[in-house]
Amino acid sequence: MSDQALRTPFSERAGAALRDTSLQQALTLATTKFIGLRKEAFATYPQGERARDQARAIKEATLQRLDHYLNMLADNVERLGGHVHWATTGEEACETILRICRECRVKTVVKSKSMATEEIELNEALEHAGVTPIETDLGEYIIQLAREKPSHIIAPAIHKTRGQVADLFSRVLKGQFPADPEVLTAVARKELRQKFLQADMGITGANFAVADTGTIVLVTNEGNGRMVTSLPRIHVAVMGIDKVIPSMTDLMFFLGILARSATGQKISVYTTLVRGPRQPGELEGPDEFHLILMDNGRARQIASELREALYCLRCGACLNVCPVYRQIGGHAYGYTYPGPIGILLTAMLKGDRAVKDLAHASSLCGACQEVCPVRIDIPRMLIELRQRLDRERIAPLAERVLFKTFAQVLTTPALFRLAATLGRLAQRPFVRGGRLQNLPLVFARWTKGRDLPPVAARTFSERWRELR
Ligand code: SF4
Repeated sequence: MSDQALRTPFSERAGAALRDTSLQQALTLATTKFIGLRKEAFATYPQGERARDQARAIKEATLQRLDHYLNMLADNVERLGGHVHWATTGEEACETILRICRECRVKTVVKSKSMATEEIELNEALEHAGVTPIETDLGEYIIQLAREKPSHIIAPAIHKTRGQVADLFSRVLKGQFPADPEVLTAVARKELRQKFLQADMGITGANFAVADTGTIVLVTNEGNGRMVTSLPRIHVAVMGIDKVIPSMTDLMFFLGILARSATGQKISVYTTLVRGPRQPGELEGPDEFHLILMDNGRARQIASELREALYCLRCGACLNVCPVYRQIGGHAYGYTYPGPIGILLTAMLKGDRAVKDLAHASSLCGACQEVCPVRIDIPRMLIELRQRLDRERIAPLAERVLFKTFAQVLTTPALFRLAATLGRLAQRPFVRGGRLQNLPLVFARWTKGRDLPPVAARTFSERWRELR
């Protein structure tokens, strides 16, 4: 999202999303479908729960020796004839890719879906340098034509209805296309075919990178990933350093749970294993292979409260079940990664100030942790993030004072009893239809968009005393 758009407060962005009926329709349809498919997929996979535990343990063990596995991966990629580049920041990663483009006279790049390249705004950097990037995943292609950003980790155009996509194609591609997914897919396929053949470079992300073989693993459903990695003369893979796993045996655990969590499939339609450039005797593959190992704020999180967020497989399941995401969609969050895990990743990449409001965009219901294939404890980390905002005095003063007072009242029985009595008296003018509405002063913002249950006529301890 542009800086301009980010200057609009989160509450206003969320409010606009709530009033957008097309968005509400598209979100409900898509997330409900994803939730159902995931549920069915795990219901018929009895070993799923064990695989989730195992995958989580592998992620934790890998983080404990991250430098070791990254060096092993780099050595093996180079042994296979690839080039490895280390990038501390997103800018460094972009600069490395632009340098390769300059040296190899690259004019056109085809890309397969990659959140890492969204994270570093690679398309903007390429365009600025005179290189044309073309997204080839259907969802990414749609939002590139619309000049928007993805609104979901695995379904970038989830916020668009088929009618909106038909209108977009008709306007940009100069035709009259019906709102029929098959027709629209065929249109995109025809447009993209030529681009694959023209492109000098293919850029992908990496779902996993296997250290002991130097294999980059791409999980896709459309086959475009294979064309991106095999047709152009150069392939560049950009990955966060958290994507490395030790071995092919470990990979099996992740493949078993990733597609089930993301789309409810047993396994994605295409699982592509890339091992360096084309080898002698091979018919397909690029002349050159480059792997960008990007930190961009990840390594410093290993020792922080947000460490577990580095386990994330980017399956998107936590977005689909999040009651906040399901209402406001991805764009209202304002950054590359939306949803509950997105809040943590944004804090990781952009700093705590960026999530001053977003840290509260969660009901802490725990649904995200329940569906996460690696059982990331997102609610706990969101609470820790809120504490950090308080400690670092990033949260607004009124909020800090209010919550401190609230904590004091809840932990002091005499104060709690007094507050209950006063609250019962003070709330009288504001109770309507059994709910507290239109509170005054600092509470006014809270009840502007929601209501609250009133303080009970008798507290639990008063009733307990009577019972005894
Ligand atoms: S936090 Fe878990 S559920 Fe959410 S995207 Fe990451 S792996 Fe998937």
